[in-house]
Amino acid sequence: MKKFDKLALFGGKKIRNKPYKPPQMIDQKEKKAVMRVLDSKELSGFLASPGKKFFGGKKVQELEKIFRHTYKVKHAIAIQSATAGLHAAVASLDLEPGDEVIVTPYSMIATATSIVMHNCIPVFADVDINTYNICPLSIESKITKKTKAIMLVHLFGYPAEMREIMRIAKKHNLKIIEDCAQAPEAYYEGKIVGAFGDLSVFSFNQNKTITTGEGGVVLTNDDELALRCKLIRNHGEVVLDNYKIKKISGIIGYNYRMTEIEATIGVEQYKKLKSLNKWNINLANYLTKKLKKFGNLFYLPANGCDKCKGNCKSRHVYFIYPFKFNSAITGIHRDVFIKALQAEGLPVFGGYVRPLYHEKMYQSLTAYGSRGFPFKSEFNSNKQNYDIGACPNCEELYKNLLITTPICKYPNTKKEIDELIFGIEKVLANLDEIKKKI
Ligand SMILES: *Cc1c(COP(=O)(O)O)cnc(C)c1O
Repeated sequence: MKKFDKLALFGGKKIRNKPYKPPQMIDQKEKKAVMRVLDSKELSGFLASPGKKFFGGKKVQELEKIFRHTYKVKHAIAIQSATAGLHAAVASLDLEPGDEVIVTPYSMIATATSIVMHNCIPVFADVDINTYNICPLSIESKITKKTKAIMLVHLFGYPAEMREIMRIAKKHNLKIIEDCAQAPEAYYEGKIVGAFGDLSVFSFNQNKTITTGEGGVVLTNDDELALRCKLIRNHGEVVLDNYKIKKISGIIGYNYRMTEIEATIGVEQYKKLKSLNKWNINLANYLTKKLKKFGNLFYLPANGCDKCKGNCKSRHVYFIYPFKFNSAITGIHRDVFIKALQAEGLPVFGGYVRPLYHEKMYQSLTAYGSRGFPFKSEFNSNKQNYDIGACPNCEELYKNLLITTPICKYPNTKKEIDELIFGIEKVLANLDEIKKKI
């Protein structure tokens, strides 16, 4: 049997002392591109008046073209952030105040907030306990006369169950918005995610696989939705006489414009996406292989779809590596296990985020003013369920089961993965002491 030192949790030596290197791949390419934009003196190509400049500068258009080609969609709209993109996407659908959008409660906060930003109501469907993505059966159970759209997330880089979700949307005449912030170039049954929905949204914020600091893009095949997004991006109400659109309500133009500096960084970053994904997926596959030896202690992500274990041409891009902890096997709670690993200097986290309806805004219904709008109003008399416990699978993952790690990321190598595995072995070898002391 291997000998292990005293746990760092109880004063022993840590396994890892060094901080992890930042995962951003930024080099001369971005620097030179930014310098060229600075030299051109055009830091943003936008003007809020009719004409070519209404649609942004050269680099913005170039970034949009890359997305149109990669995703084989008619329109790409570069935008200031994915949050702005999600808001523009919801607003482009011209929903009425109080309309309902079904959404996952297990995501970055902006996913659901973007719905509230357009005076609409997020209705939370539960997630699948094994894929962590929104559950089609739960979606169907949440549909009411007020439901207008489904907003789904490909969480952690794993594609949502698009086949079923598309079927439900078609049957009930609902629009689909895909939040692809964590899943650039993930695939679902051979088709790239972001090419399924009526609209899809990507993020380039500092922590995403490729970054422009802040930034995002919206994709759609629909001419009218695309134009509406562009109007919402750039003070659209001032040019409504100039662009022919059927419905003008909901066009409150924000300033969601992307600068040329961000766009030129985005163009360079996109060239690195394939190799970054490949790097991360290789590390994730290595981690999966290593974690398998702990048997039923962990539930591991499938490479492809959950049903066929990788044969269906689906692709997880492991923006975050998720796995589940079986506390029955160790007799300690996940959070104790996490605490022991964190004390060793290892990057593991419990629960991801709390179910979004736990947030104060939903608990106190105080998005706008104090009278409950948009959750309660003359526009919608349905009673929304934001009770703690409303989505049991999501609650269970948050409280007891899910562990995430960002370790499967460039420029980490197998060495970092081996350290994590060693840490897990060390904690497991010291279970008796942990149980005695905690
Ligand atoms: C990061 C993220 C967002 C928000 O992206 P920003 O560009 O920071 O606005 C939205 N949804 C998901 C799932 C995310 O991970």
